[in-house]
Amino acid sequence: MANIGFIGLGNMGTPMAANLVKAGHRVRGYDVNTAALQNLTSIGVEVAANASEAARGADVVITMLPAGEHVREVWLHQGGLIEAVKDAAPLLIDCSTIDVESARIVTEAAHNAGLDMLDAPVSGGVGGAVAATLTFMVGGSDAAFVRGLPILQAMGKNIVHAGGPGAGQAAKICNNMMLAINMAGVCEGFLLARKLGLDWDRLFQIASASSGQSWALSNYCPAPGPVPAAPSNRDYAAGFMAALMLKDVKLSQAAADAVGSPTPLGAHAMSLYQAVVDVGNGAKDFSVVFRWLESQPRQ
Ligand code: NAD
Repeated sequence: MANIGFIGLGNMGTPMAANLVKAGHRVRGYDVNTAALQNLTSIGVEVAANASEAARGADVVITMLPAGEHVREVWLHQGGLIEAVKDAAPLLIDCSTIDVESARIVTEAAHNAGLDMLDAPVSGGVGGAVAATLTFMVGGSDAAFVRGLPILQAMGKNIVHAGGPGAGQAAKICNNMMLAINMAGVCEGFLLARKLGLDWDRLFQIASASSGQSWALSNYCPAPGPVPAAPSNRDYAAGFMAALMLKDVKLSQAAADAVGSPTPLGAHAMSLYQAVVDVGNGAKDFSVVFRWLESQPRQ
């Protein structure tokens, strides 16, 4: 059993913390949003008055926050966690999806304080967080990975050591950029099929057994009908929100700018998800890009 401090108890953090409790760990949690703290005791998480209190005496401190600025604030700023916990030398794990630069800055500060840190963003959404089936993409040293593995296994099913510090974030944004592009491609195929008089179920049957097959097609088919469990059959209720997809594709483009890698399709996908968010569909599943494309004239 480990003592775990958990900062950021939103949609993902709360079920992740609940699974740590189920696995027998003692978890103390903190969130700036007091509403997020209301139900914690019912799932066995102790409520701390601030982040430092949640992390005090912990063997492992986990953050699950919205973006890089929040991660930098919690770990580095005045009263930041690295300073607060350095004498106890816990393992630090950031599970948020953030920019590679922020991950690198925070990890460097942790190392300078003599602490091990992992960047461990996840894939699998709220459903995966609840079912403890998340995929963790982990960046950090071999020793830190071995130390963190049993903790991550309580929250996920596939725990992959992607490489050194920052490699987890890099893997996450590359994966999601590929998914963003791929989904847009599936949307275009189904829209063209309809104009060509092709039945969507038939196209699905053919493409899912042919070279057009993909995760986006098989699981989240954006055209209503062929995949009953897909968000497209429930008015595009998320799923994985378009606003979060936009955030991740933006991160991929910032990273591509920083290293000078060509991503013309990533850049175009970003403009599509931006348009989806601009028309007020940011809270819908990202496959709602189908509906937006459907409303567009041919250029
Ligand atoms: P969320 O907004 O529901 O939760 C984030 C929590 O962090 C909020 O409760 C917020 O109050 C808290 N917070 C913000 N600043 C804080 C601070 N200074 N101190 C303490 N708490 C603070 O977001 P989420 O859906 O749980 O996502 C968390 C991360 O996981 C994001 O980086 C997101 O991109 C990533 N992610 C989300 C999903 C998903 O499907 N929701 C899937 C994969 C990855």
